[in-house]
Amino acid sequence: MALIPHINVCNDDNEIYCCLRNKIVKLDAQQQEQFCSGCKMYAGDAEGYAQGVTCIWEDLRDIGNPHVALDPLEEFVRNQIKQVPPEGPALFLYSS
Ligand code: SF4
Repeated sequence: MALIPHINVCNDDNEIYCCLRNKIVKLDAQQQEQFCSGCKMYAGDAEGYAQGVTCIWEDLRDIGNPHVALDPLEEFVRNQIKQVPPEGPALFLYSS
């Protein structure tokens, strides 16, 4: 599984999708101080964009590397889809 930099670009309401909190948040001082500053996924600003944050995590989705997220709602929805491990669902089926 690849470690993918997710470049989360703020929308017009200064919102991004936060993987740690699994929700759409405003990228304001509170978010940055209470969550991003201590987050292991934090990897700096959204380089090349006016406002945003880069977060690195392992992602099973078939996406770019880096992955640029321009729409927080779309990114939130796409991250709610349960991922099946590469070895397939059989382990789940036969291990219970
Ligand atoms: S660095 Fe962590 S807390 Fe901040 S937006 Fe990314 S996932 Fe969320």
